[in-house]
Amino acid sequence: MPRTLITGGAGFLGSHLCEYLLAKGHEVICIDNLSTGNIENIEQLHREQFTFIKQDVTEYLYIKGPIDYILHFASPASPVDYQRMPIQTLKVGSLGTHKALGLAKEKQAVFLLASTSEVYGDPLVHPQKEDYWGNVNPIGPRGVYDEAKRFAEAMTMAYHRYHGISTRIARIFNTYGPRMRLHDGRVVPQFIYQVLTNKPLTVYGSGRQTRSFCFISDLIEGIYKLLLSNISDPVNIGNPNEMTILELGELLLKISGGKGEIRYEPLPQDDPQTRQPDITKARAQLKWEPKVPLEEGLKTTMDWFKNKGVVS
Ligand code: UDP
Repeated sequence: MPRTLITGGAGFLGSHLCEYLLAKGHEVICIDNLSTGNIENIEQLHREQFTFIKQDVTEYLYIKGPIDYILHFASPASPVDYQRMPIQTLKVGSLGTHKALGLAKEKQAVFLLASTSEVYGDPLVHPQKEDYWGNVNPIGPRGVYDEAKRFAEAMTMAYHRYHGISTRIARIFNTYGPRMRLHDGRVVPQFIYQVLTNKPLTVYGSGRQTRSFCFISDLIEGIYKLLLSNISDPVNIGNPNEMTILELGELLLKISGGKGEIRYEPLPQDDPQTRQPDITKARAQLKWEPKVPLEEGLKTTMDWFKNKGVVS
């Protein structure tokens, strides 16, 4: 039975990973300081093969016994969260990644970094391929996340090259699904909340900026395939189905049968104008591509929010 550590395991992506790897027969150790993670996300996982440790990964990590895989997913990930916690975001991407890599070296574990499409910043190349170096404002409000993840990638490659650690880097694009926090500020939960409560959709800027949304189950499959590969260079994991934010709003209104008022608000500073993953590499080398159509994934997500009663 592989023994696997997941940092940020109580978060949106992390908790789905815990669940997935348990089902694959792993013993799972989940570390989370619950700053943006939620204990409810992992409540149903409590069993013999699952351990939860409440800890900040920027502090020294001691784990008894062997570890086969370390998946480093701890970090605030929504623009609202990381701008609310700028220093913690920088610390978890830098010090936290260093600690997690140090543990991987100690245990000779395979290490997988949850990186991000934000390493491409406001991209000048479209769609984004892994060999694009990005267009990031280091001192802007988003810089705390973008630069932390860029540093984390550099640190991961340094451990790979200098210490010979087996590493993977997943560049994760916008992902949505059950267990997102309703008020984390990201566009999918925000719009779902607004359509379900008949509030106007808050569209930032013209709404013509684009994103490409991947359903959680597809993303987790991609991460798992990357983990089991031997690819140490970054791999984009996301859904190339690109759309404008206005189109996303229209689709959610269609699904819900809502009214459709839109309130335009200012575009946040350095908000990327376009974003679409080029997943040629993942398709060819991981034999992976997303399967869940957007409308189906959004319905599932909306139903989850309704069933949880989080939207009254
Ligand atoms: N956005 C919006 N209204 C909202 C929340 C977000 O128009 O209520 C826009 C935001 O400006 C960005 C896109 O939706 O262009 C995606 O934002 P999100 O925070 O989900 O993630 P990002 O991709 O920017 O990290």
